[in-house]
Amino acid sequence: MELIYGLRACGVEHDIAIPQVAVIGDQSSGKSSVLEAICSVPLPRGAGLTTRCAIELRLTNTHPEDAALPSDTEPPKREPFWLASISTSLNPKQVPLSGKAELEDAIAAHAASLTDPRQNSGFSKERVIVHIAATGSPNLTIIDLPGIIRTKTFGDFFPFIPPFGDSQDRNAIRQVSQLIQGYAAQERTILLVVIPATQDVATIEALEWAARYDPSGRRTIGVITKPDLIDKGAEREVASVLNNRRKPLKLGYIMVKNRSQKEVEEHVSVQQARENEYEFFSNHPVFSKMSRSYFGVDNLVKKVTGVLVSRLHDELPKMRSEVVQMLGKTTQELQDIGKGAGDTPAEANMTLMRIVFEYNNLLTESSAGRYVDKRLWSPSLRLCTRVRNVYDEFKSKIESKRPPFEGDSRFIDEVEKDIRNSRGRELPGFLNPRIFESRVARYVEDWRDSSNQLVSEVKRLVSEVAVELLTSLAPEFPGLRSKMQDIVTDVLHNLEKNARKEIVSVFDREVGQPFTMNEQFLAAVNAKRMERFDAAVVVALSRAGRDNRGNVREKNVSDMLRAWYQSYYCSSSAERVRADAEDMSTMLGCYWDVSAKRFIDNNVMVVDTTILRPLAQEIHVPLNALVLKVGTSQQALVDLLQEDPTVTARRKTLRAKKERLAKAQELLDRFR
Ligand code: GDP
Ligand code: MG
Repeated sequence: MELIYGLRACGVEHDIAIPQVAVIGDQSSGKSSVLEAICSVPLPRGAGLTTRCAIELRLTNTHPEDAALPSDTEPPKREPFWLASISTSLNPKQVPLSGKAELEDAIAAHAASLTDPRQNSGFSKERVIVHIAATGSPNLTIIDLPGIIRTKTFGDFFPFIPPFGDSQDRNAIRQVSQLIQGYAAQERTILLVVIPATQDVATIEALEWAARYDPSGRRTIGVITKPDLIDKGAEREVASVLNNRRKPLKLGYIMVKNRSQKEVEEHVSVQQARENEYEFFSNHPVFSKMSRSYFGVDNLVKKVTGVLVSRLHDELPKMRSEVVQMLGKTTQELQDIGKGAGDTPAEANMTLMRIVFEYNNLLTESSAGRYVDKRLWSPSLRLCTRVRNVYDEFKSKIESKRPPFEGDSRFIDEVEKDIRNSRGRELPGFLNPRIFESRVARYVEDWRDSSNQLVSEVKRLVSEVAVELLTSLAPEFPGLRSKMQDIVTDVLHNLEKNARKEIVSVFDREVGQPFTMNEQFLAAVNAKRMERFDAAVVVALSRAGRDNRGNVREKNVSDMLRAWYQSYYCSSSAERVRADAEDMSTMLGCYWDVSAKRFIDNNVMVVDTTILRPLAQEIHVPLNALVLKVGTSQQALVDLLQEDPTVTARRKTLRAKKERLAKAQELLDRFR
């Protein structure tokens, strides 16, 4: 009980389920009356006042004045003490109550604020929460639930949802069932199943529900009410239930006698009702002969408390691990949210310097591909790697643009047309070099979009990473973030301008006069030419025929090769133009391979040297200027480090949560 009280006192009931008690049963079975007897507080009940939402009573046996006293004062006289307040699950603000008399109306009013007769058949999933601290009260959280509805049509024998009947009824039944079964399903909730003695236990639906949600029966207690209304002669039957012979429950039954409607109307006090109860059982012809432990509210409280303790005992390890896990999560979240600016200008200045310093540092590391710092473990913050992927994309984009060249006769046709259409004053046997140049210029032009995209994409990436890093370093300072972001944007704008300028000169190099010192080029051209020669040889050999001794006719071979050579390199006919077009296509292809590689390298190196490498240094300068400038004016510092109010509020919530979880963990450890 001390543990439950302690857990509740540190407020972790918001975070984990703490063992509690709920009453379930039919309408008017006496649920509210049982609760009333347990906590000695009158509750709304009786015919017109059906509970339409859960009412949670948090009872504590306490003397809060004790805690406030300095330790050397005399212990106070322990006056009976009663303090209560009321709130709802929707509005946690506790409204204090001045006395017991107010309670009934306050509960009714709060319940009314949660329920809307036009919605959900007037039922609500929300709760009214009554906090009562009183001398001698049990330490219990106990919940009064709406009663299970039985339809008038089918009466007591058919409590299930009827296959027909009016939809209002059916809807109400569904709402209530969901509400009650929600509580019944909670592992840490003890179920008090309230059964009027006037009814046959076999027809009690609440018992079926309890059996369904608590099949082991470790948290179900039967409570029999209205013993004073049992028909003469039916006592034996009720006694056999109490003895746990009929419809046995693992934890058994207890019988209580509450105030009847008449007693309520006659203002019989709760205290008086208890005395009447004692009297009743002591003088009853059948029940007085049975063990006293089956009867009375006091025994019920004892039993409930005992079960609560054993439930708690069973659940302790699980509760502890829930608390530990949540504590870890909260601590992490607190870390993520940042510490805030600090209280003095000096502290605020230190905060600013720290953020700027770390920002620079992390940006440098990230753009260089050193991700040692934990804060760079997230893949989205790894600038170098992300840019590298963009480079790869760029490379494959350019490579995919390679024309087929001599592999495609249509391409050769076009080159042939070029040659015919640009005849000039070249010496016989020479080709106009402009044909080659303009073909190169054409395919280089085809690279321009990709190159522009490369610059834009890298800029976008850098800006994205820079902003994300900023958000992770200074989540709580939107003002500082936007200022720093402006600086980053400016710097990036300039870097982009430089990059584009240099890319222009990369293009200039590729168009105009094609040039390369790369041996790969000639080697490739020669290899292609040799291929053509080899093919001609193969053809000649296969067509030359053999003499009668089986030897290849050499004369034929050399004639054929000679004819091939002539058509390729000597004639001035149309064939010659075709051969030139073919050869130029080969050369263009080989040159494309060389120049595309060079182009890709150049682009990437330009982006690297104009954006990525100078980035951190370029940002460093204006950021330092910002720190220096702000450092001279306290107001500027305050303005810059204005914290986002939602963050401040969230931090406060998290700190409170962390504190109560830590306390809860300490408590749970103590009771382990
Ligand atoms: P709930 O709807 O289950 O909460 O039932 P209530 O607690 O409101 O009780 C319904 C009616 O039964 C009220 O008029 C109570 O006074 C009456 N009642 C409850 N318990 C007893 C009891 O033990 N004996 C008698 N005679 N009446 C009772
Ligand atoms: Mg009730």
